[in-house]
Amino acid sequence: MRAVVVSEKGRPAVMQQVDRGFLGEGDVVVDVAWSSLNYKDGMALAGDPGIVRTAPLVPGIDLVGTVAESSSADWSPGDQVLLNGAGIGESRHGGFAEQAVVDGGSLVAVPPGISPRQAAAVGTAGFTAMLSVLRLERDVRPGDGEVVVTGAAGGVGSVAIALLSGLGYSVTASSGRAAEQRDYLTGLGASTVVDRNELAGPGRPVQSARWAGGVDSVGSHTLANVLAQTAWGGTVAACGLAQGSDLPTTVLPFILRNVTLAGVNSVDAPVELRREAWRRLASDLDLDLLDGLTTEIALADVVEHGPRIVEGAVRGRVVVDVRR
Ligand code: NDP
Repeated sequence: MRAVVVSEKGRPAVMQQVDRGFLGEGDVVVDVAWSSLNYKDGMALAGDPGIVRTAPLVPGIDLVGTVAESSSADWSPGDQVLLNGAGIGESRHGGFAEQAVVDGGSLVAVPPGISPRQAAAVGTAGFTAMLSVLRLERDVRPGDGEVVVTGAAGGVGSVAIALLSGLGYSVTASSGRAAEQRDYLTGLGASTVVDRNELAGPGRPVQSARWAGGVDSVGSHTLANVLAQTAWGGTVAACGLAQGSDLPTTVLPFILRNVTLAGVNSVDAPVELRREAWRRLASDLDLDLLDGLTTEIALADVVEHGPRIVEGAVRGRVVVDVRR
């Protein structure tokens, strides 16, 4: 079968033919129909040892497909399943191959009403956006004030805007492509679009309160400024590091404003949380908006697309048709 493979840490991926034995151990074999391109996949495709934990490795942190064989009591041949994270594409083979051998305990059924292609369009980025929203809504209600989404035109950001605006939150989108992507971002439901430079540089530890909460996929000074601008009792869900993994802040937002910094991790989310997030995605995500933020590439195009997402040049979500 065709597979995109990183043969050695530090070396870029290439497309090659592999056999079933190459795919490793697991209790479920999936015929992969769709995968997607996430920021992490871009790093893996370059051979980045921060993501490529073992080699050779098939990257692809998402897969959607049909169960071909199963020795798991939970799954039978023909079931439509999806998998986000749980080590695939990092420490075991992932979605950029025509088949995957996986652990049935991490699989989720493709929810009714969502097509396999749409499930891949959601992918890890959309799943992470949903996990962020689940965390945010514990503390922040629509009507409490403006919520900010950083990295707005990226995958996590785009889905977070669609979800939050659909739930009735008033959303400010922060983007490095504010002028160019204003119509796109307002089309997803953002009421205000700001240039990310407003948040990207060093700032005072506590600033005028602008936000009731936020979803941050950027980290570094941006997250520090979002925290500094969050109103009393607000919550910021931190899920990414597109600007940097540093966090140059102080304890002042926490002790003077009662701000909560909530961590979000999709990779090791327990299966109950995975199911809850996917139930909510099925009920709350506007699928027309999802289709509008999705572009499609073939498996054969994945290697050349990898660098684009790391450069921040990709808008919204990219699905991968693994059969092409
Ligand atoms: P994308 O590349 O699709 O989106 C990232 C966006 O961040 C870009 O589109 C851009 O948005 C913005 N950005 C890029 N570079 C910079 C920069 N130097 N400074 C400020 N903003 C920048 O990636 P994803 O949406 O797939 O992932 C976003 C982040 O979330 C990544 O760091 C990823 O590793 C992380 N992540 C974490 C997960 C978890 O489990 N915690 C799961 C999934 C992703 P714009 O042009 O609008 O400014």
